[in-house]
Amino acid sequence: MPRDPRYDILFEPVRIGPVTAPNRFYQTPHATGFGWQRPQSGAALRGVKAEGGWGVVCTEYCSIHPSSDDSPYAFLTLWDDDDIAPLALTADAIHAHGALAGIELWHGGAHASNRMTRVPGIAPDAQPALYHLPATARAMDLSDIRAFRGWQRDAAKRAKRAGFDIVYVYAGHDYLPFQFLSRRSNHRGDAYGGSLENRVRLLREMIEDTKDAVGDTCAVAVRLAVDELHGPEGITSEGEGREVIEMLAELPDLWDVNVAGALGNDSRSARFSGEGFQEENVAFVKSMTTKPVVSVGRFTSPDRMVSQIKRGVQDFIGAARPSIADPFLPMKIREGREDEIRECIGCNICRAANNEGVGLRCTQNPTMGEEWRRGWHPERIAVHPRREKALVIGGGPAGLEAALTLGRRGLEVTLAEASEAFGGRLLREATLPGLATWMRVRDWRLHMIGKLSNVTLYPASRMGAQDVAAFGADHVVLATGSHWRRDGVGVYAIRPLSLPKALTPDDVLAGAGIAGPIVIYDDEHYFMGGALAERLAGAGHEVHYVTTAPVASSWTVLTNEQDFLQARLIKAGVRLHPLKSLKAQGNGEVTISCVYTGREEPLPCGTLILCTGRLPDTALHDEMIGHGIPASRIGDCLAPSSIADAVHSAHRYARLLGEPDLPPRRERAPIRSL
Ligand code: ADP
Ligand code: SF4
Repeated sequence: MPRDPRYDILFEPVRIGPVTAPNRFYQTPHATGFGWQRPQSGAALRGVKAEGGWGVVCTEYCSIHPSSDDSPYAFLTLWDDDDIAPLALTADAIHAHGALAGIELWHGGAHASNRMTRVPGIAPDAQPALYHLPATARAMDLSDIRAFRGWQRDAAKRAKRAGFDIVYVYAGHDYLPFQFLSRRSNHRGDAYGGSLENRVRLLREMIEDTKDAVGDTCAVAVRLAVDELHGPEGITSEGEGREVIEMLAELPDLWDVNVAGALGNDSRSARFSGEGFQEENVAFVKSMTTKPVVSVGRFTSPDRMVSQIKRGVQDFIGAARPSIADPFLPMKIREGREDEIRECIGCNICRAANNEGVGLRCTQNPTMGEEWRRGWHPERIAVHPRREKALVIGGGPAGLEAALTLGRRGLEVTLAEASEAFGGRLLREATLPGLATWMRVRDWRLHMIGKLSNVTLYPASRMGAQDVAAFGADHVVLATGSHWRRDGVGVYAIRPLSLPKALTPDDVLAGAGIAGPIVIYDDEHYFMGGALAERLAGAGHEVHYVTTAPVASSWTVLTNEQDFLQARLIKAGVRLHPLKSLKAQGNGEVTISCVYTGREEPLPCGTLILCTGRLPDTALHDEMIGHGIPASRIGDCLAPSSIADAVHSAHRYARLLGEPDLPPRRERAPIRSL
């Protein structure tokens, strides 16, 4: 298909100081969980983005000095010349596809844990380390500031030697240069504190130093949080954020602007933000500078991208998550295949990976993070040597992914689903507040399956063991899903209880009758308990949310959603009962007990809803085993988990069919004698 001419504007080259981006697709810096420890994994990941058409591909944060150590998380380093070669791998992988390579030089200041290096932290003023450590970052004196400027300069020179085209000065996300900017964190009395002019001084010097060091051939980009969302006491887009841009307008070669403060603000999940959500805070920047501007906003719609450019909001389409969910998004638009874009669902499982210190993963894109260690490519897959028949049973995320991937491999695929509609758990979960975008997991797969003549879909087709035997497939794979358990067994409380009157999320989402007051017992800790509380409180019920954890939906700390969620529940009037476990259900009440002391208390309860865990639906599997029919299991019917895990499990099955199941490659330093 030829490209839609409306999208031509997205493919215009854009000059950034001494370099030129081939188009307007700009993968802004984002974490990968690979860092300096896994350079080949990082390079392969970025290379695939460049191959997919991103005109600029940036690294994650790259520390300029051991006083900025983010252990135990994965981050890059340019501390000495030995760091150059591993980073050159990434620059080369990006250049191989004609894209520009950007590197985000970073100093975390009071945010750096320095757990590995054990170097005392530094900050504009002595202040508690912002890392939940009983440590204090020491105040930088003028010699520290001089040294700091030297680290940035040296790192920039090394970045240039590694082959990067765009070198960042990073004043966002509450890191060191931003700590100097904001009067919330800068109380100095010298030339670097007090007036905004003084607080901007370090950032100005860093830009000048970096330009002086590498600006002849490298563009110097500034990443700035123009609003830290702390109101007038901090940097705001109406106040000092605007003034900073005005003061430095023409100094950098590119402005990469966002709302930040905490990291979670500019990568808010779909539950808490829509596409283009930062526009109202960042749109002013372009009117104050002639330099190109980039910003993010989970952009997946080409029309919205064009509108961003035409309305003068920004010059590039900045993207982290959309490029993770679909590294080939630009190429699909370029080739008139925009209907094939695998849109980010805004679930923030990718953020969780980094926050857990493991390699990047994505709900929509099971190949993300697997480029080097498993050799998976998002768009290419080996054709199966024989056109064999595969029967996939269950049409949730796992079954759909298996059918699509087996179909791409050329097998003759049949997908049987018991319900009238495909989607499995998504049919229920996407009805919860803010989760409608999750349906994209189903919709994209159904759409792509529709393009394959070798995959046939059978809705309303519940399969039994006899049906499977009669079908006579070469490969049978079960994706029959899971159900919420009724016995109260969860992460904390592993002893089953007798709770015959309790409901599960399956019952509630299927429309079971509910009488208040409602008690939601969450001992699973992901989204379900909190989302049900939000929905039921929104419907006017009195809701008590009981959890064994200290906070609501505690696992969502990792998806950077927890703060937003807890605020929403409090505002909705949900009564929170943290650190309590469920003991029993009586008439019109439940008994809960303190997880520390065991002290019990009653709670009025008309309906008890248990969100404690799920069990695999193995009835068909058990029946088949009974009949001696072999079958593989994938997704939740093997081990209930996130949708991301179900999709990955299905993809892995389909990719490995007929192939050896080798362990993933690991990056190991060569062993020398001690
Ligand atoms: P996953 O997340 O692993 O994909 P889901 O629970 O979302 O799991 O989906 C499982 C799907 O399997 C559901 O749509 C369910 O209706 C379907 N299913 C379960 N048992 C059968 C069966 N015996 N025959 C056909 N479909 C089934
Ligand atoms: Fe988007 Fe979720 Fe993938 Fe992150 S994990 S890129 S939020 S779909």
